Amino acid sequence: MSANWIPGVPAPTHDDLNTCVQCGLCLPHCPTFRVTGLETSSPRGRIAAMRAVQEGQATVDGDFTRFTDECLACRACEAACPSSVPYGRLIEAARAQTEAARPVAERAVRRAGINGVIGHRRLTRLMGWGLAVMQALRLDRLAPARLRMATPRVTLRGMRQPLPEPVGDGPEAMLLTGCVMDIAFRPAHRATLHAMGRAGYRATTPAQGGCCGALAAHAGEVEEARHLARQRIAEMEGAQVVVADSAGCSAHLRSYGHLLADDPAWADRARAFSARVRDAVELDAPPARTVDERVAVHDACHHLHAQGIGPEVRRVLRDAGATPVDLGDGGRCCGAGGIYNVLEPEMAATLGEQKARAIMATGARVVAVANPGCAIQIRNHLRAQGSEIQVRHPLEIVD
Ligand code: SF4
Ligand code: SF4
Repeated sequence: MSANWIPGVPAPTHDDLNTCVQCGLCLPHCPTFRVTGLETSSPRGRIAAMRAVQEGQATVDGDFTRFTDECLACRACEAACPSSVPYGRLIEAARAQTEAARPVAERAVRRAGINGVIGHRRLTRLMGWGLAVMQALRLDRLAPARLRMATPRVTLRGMRQPLPEPVGDGPEAMLLTGCVMDIAFRPAHRATLHAMGRAGYRATTPAQGGCCGALAAHAGEVEEARHLARQRIAEMEGAQVVVADSAGCSAHLRSYGHLLADDPAWADRARAFSARVRDAVELDAPPARTVDERVAVHDACHHLHAQGIGPEVRRVLRDAGATPVDLGDGGRCCGAGGIYNVLEPEMAATLGEQKARAIMATGARVVAVANPGCAIQIRNHLRAQGSEIQVRHPLEIVD
């Protein structure tokens, strides 16, 4: 039978789907399966649903959309899979299909947020100012809980603070300023620019800057993701090294080669660009200060599962004299997942509460978190449980 994918939209490929041998070894690693115990909430179940559409036995309908929407795209299954199933690629293609199948009005609302605001730096900054004013006046308390728990803390002072001028000497390394990082996590940007200088680079930022497209790609907005990838390549490819201090962004920048592989004008540039990407914790920078305390470590899924980064975070902390403390939850996802905590608030809340409890159990006063989505989710869940534990990027802790 022929496949039932929506024509003209990226779709999971027959070859990728066939790498899954249905062994189920990924199931215990999947956070949504662990919460529900349902096969349809597991990687194997989601792949089976994709296969059914591929084999013409099902369509991209409401059930299919529900199964894929509930996935965090954390890729814990990919890291655990002995058959090297490219799950990240499969779920992004499946989401391109579910986005195309959504009712026009629902899609317009989702697009307005992802493409209309996050994809345009000026509008993202404007949103930042709006959030800062609302939070200063404490109007944010009126927002629904699902939005509050997914909202970063943005201050008027933080919005006014400029990033440092070029730092250090040597070959140029350029920092991706991004979208959410640019409005809510400037202290992490400043610490990363300082670390780039200490690592022997001339640390710069792009003239315009903007989103890398990770949120669009995870939401199935492939054309928007490609558009943003071309923008970032064009303005950053002159640097010898491209640095990102968000795990989701560094993982996505490294995927540009794949994202633009079928665009003859950009494929080679995208591959060369991806090869020059470094996550901020991979810089070999000596610490700027001594840290004499225990620091809990939350491993972002896009570090641990997408890039195999984990020891690097601990090395950054140990080099400064800190004692990294692993969480007792086996590195489970915190439930942030891009904008997952807005779209799937119940599952996100369950995972966020579990993560906050695991951090509190360490007794540390600070937790190292290298991804903005995780940092927002973890901070808000810690505060909801009455904890004052500080949430910081690892480089910020040693700056
Ligand atoms: S994704 Fe990998 S681990 Fe999971 S069922 Fe398929 S082959 Fe097994
Ligand atoms: S990406 Fe994460 S939530 Fe989705 S199927 Fe894999 S382990 Fe489960």
